[in-house]
Amino acid sequence: MTPENSSSAYKAYFLGPRAENEAWVRAEFQGILDHWFQWRKDLFPNDKPVSTKPERRTPAYLEARERMAAGLEDLADLLDGELPKFTPRYIGHMVSDLTLPALMGHFAMLLHNPNNTSRDASKIGSIIEEQVVAMLAEMLGFAPEKATGHITGGGTVANFEAVWRARFRQDHWLSLVLYLAEERGVKLNLFQGAHMGWARFAELLAEHDVLLDDLREYSAVATNPYEFGERMTNAFGRPYRGPVMLVPENKHFSWTKAANIFGYGEHAFWPVPLDAYGKMDVEGLTGLIQKAQKEGRPISMVVSVAGTTETGEIDPIHQVQGILKALREREGWDIWHHVDAAYGGFLCTLLRGEPSRVLSAENTKALSAIGDAHSVTIDPHKLGYVPYSCGAIITKDEQAYAVSSFKAPYLERQLEVPDKWSTTLEGSRSAAGAAATWLTGKTFGFDTAGLGGVIEETILACRSFRKKVGDALPFVRFLDPSETNILCYSLAEAGASLKATNAATEEIFNRFVACPEFSVSKTTLSGAAHRKVIERHVGAYGGVVDDDRLVLIRSVFMNPFWRELDVSESLTADIIARLDDWFQPAKAA
Ligand SMILES: *Cc1c(COP(=O)(O)O)cnc(C)c1O
Repeated sequence: MTPENSSSAYKAYFLGPRAENEAWVRAEFQGILDHWFQWRKDLFPNDKPVSTKPERRTPAYLEARERMAAGLEDLADLLDGELPKFTPRYIGHMVSDLTLPALMGHFAMLLHNPNNTSRDASKIGSIIEEQVVAMLAEMLGFAPEKATGHITGGGTVANFEAVWRARFRQDHWLSLVLYLAEERGVKLNLFQGAHMGWARFAELLAEHDVLLDDLREYSAVATNPYEFGERMTNAFGRPYRGPVMLVPENKHFSWTKAANIFGYGEHAFWPVPLDAYGKMDVEGLTGLIQKAQKEGRPISMVVSVAGTTETGEIDPIHQVQGILKALREREGWDIWHHVDAAYGGFLCTLLRGEPSRVLSAENTKALSAIGDAHSVTIDPHKLGYVPYSCGAIITKDEQAYAVSSFKAPYLERQLEVPDKWSTTLEGSRSAAGAAATWLTGKTFGFDTAGLGGVIEETILACRSFRKKVGDALPFVRFLDPSETNILCYSLAEAGASLKATNAATEEIFNRFVACPEFSVSKTTLSGAAHRKVIERHVGAYGGVVDDDRLVLIRSVFMNPFWRELDVSESLTADIIARLDDWFQPAKAA
C-alpha cells in the first residue's frame, strides 16, 4: 500500500457520515442474516416446520405481520429524532460513529443470544469473551496468559468489580489479624496486617497453624461489619473506623457510588488532591497514605485515572506505581492499585506499532505502567468505538481476580476458575459486547496501524481545531493541557471576572444547544479540588477569581472524520463564525 492508500483505509471500518459504504455493508448484514437462517435450516434438517403456507395466510397471521411493520415504522420515525452521533458535527460526549466490525460482531452475536453468566448458557460466547479479555489485557500491557477479567455493563460496574475484589482480599488479611488477636493473643501491627500480602498471609497461617475455614467468623464481610469494628476496637485499644479509598478528585462519580454501595460510607472516600493541571498530585497521595497509617485505617485501594471524564487528562500512573512498589519493598505493604482507564484505556493502542507522534514522554510512561496495576477498568463502548453497553474489568492475575462467591471464601476454590456467575456482580450478561470488541480487535486491530491510528488522528484534529480557533478568536480560553482528544474552553475578554466568564460561557453553551448543526457538552470544575486549575486558567488571561466554579464548553473529538482536511476546515470555520457572532452580545451584556 502507498501511504496515500493506507491513510484512507480506515474509512473502510466506518459506515461514513453519508453512508458511503452502504452497498457492501448491506451485503455483509444480509450475510449475517443468511447465516442465521441457514444455521436453523441445517442443524436439524429432519425436524418439521411449525407453520404451513395456508397458516401464514390467515388474517390473524397477516395482521400480526402488519402490526410489526407498522410498529417498526413508528420506531423508525421516532429514531429520526435521535442524536446524530455518527457525524463529525457531534463533538459532545464520549461517543461517535461505531466501527463496522463492532456493529457486525454485535449483531451476529445478538442473533444467537448467548448468556455469558455460565458456560452452560454460552458455549461460544464465553470463549469469545475469554479471547477478548486476553486481547484487551495484552493491549493494556498485562501478561495475557496470566491476566484475566470479564466484560461488564460499563465502566461503573467494572469499577465496582475492582472494589469488590480489593475488599475480598483485604478482608482475608484483616480476619487473620483479628483471629490472631482474639484467639492467640498475637497482636500484629494493624496497618501492616491490613496490607500483608498473600505470601505473608500463607506464612502466618502456617506459623500459627490456622485453617482458612477458621477465619470465617472473623471476617467483616462474612459476619457483621459493625461487630467486626467493635471487636477490632477492643482488640487494638483504639477506635476502628474501617477502610478508606484513595481516589483523585478528578474522579468519575462512579467512585462516590462505590463508597456508598459497598457500605464504606462517604467519609471513607479520601480524595487525593490535584495539581494545577488537574492531575493527581502524588505528594498528596503519599501524605494520605501516611495519614491512613497514623490513624490505623486500612487502605482498600488507591485509584489513578487514565483519561479523566471531564478533560481527558492522564494521572502519573507510573509515579503512583513507583510509590506503591517502594512501600511494598521497604515496608512490606501490598496496597491495591486500580487504574480507572474507562476512557483512556484504548490510548494504549498508541503504544503498539509505529511510535506515536502525539503522546508526551510522561504520558507514555504513565500508560506503559497500567500493566503493573492490580486491576483496570476499560470501556470498549467509549474509545473502542463499540456499541453500548460494553465495559471490562481486567486483573493482572487469577489471584487479583478472586472474589467472594457468597459461600466460604476459600482461596483454593476461587483459583479453580468457577463459572462466571459466581465472580461477577451482574448475573445474566450478553455476549454481544465481547463479540463487537473481538471483531474490532481481530480486523481493525488495537495498534497504530488500526484503531490507534484513528485515535491518534483525532488527537491531532483536536489540536488543530484548538490552534485555528485560538488564532481567530483570542477570547476563547482553552483549558490546558488538553493532552488527548477532549478540549474544554471558556469565553472571556482579557481581565474578565470569573463570574462574567461563567455567564458568557453558559450563554454560548445555550446557543450551541439551540443550534441543531453542532453538539457540544458542558462541564463545571468546582470546589477546593480544582482551585489550582481554576486559578491557573483564569490567571492566564489576567482575570479575577470571584467564583469557586469554572464553567467550560467541552468537546470530545472522537469522530474519525475530523482527520479529513476539508471536513475539519469547513466545520472549524463554521464554529469560529458562530462563536464570534455569539460572543458579541454576551460581551455587551
Ligand atoms: C465513563 C467513565 C466511567 C463510567 O463508565 P460507564 O461506562 O459510563 O459506566 C468511569 N470512569 C471514567 C474515568 C469514565 O470516563
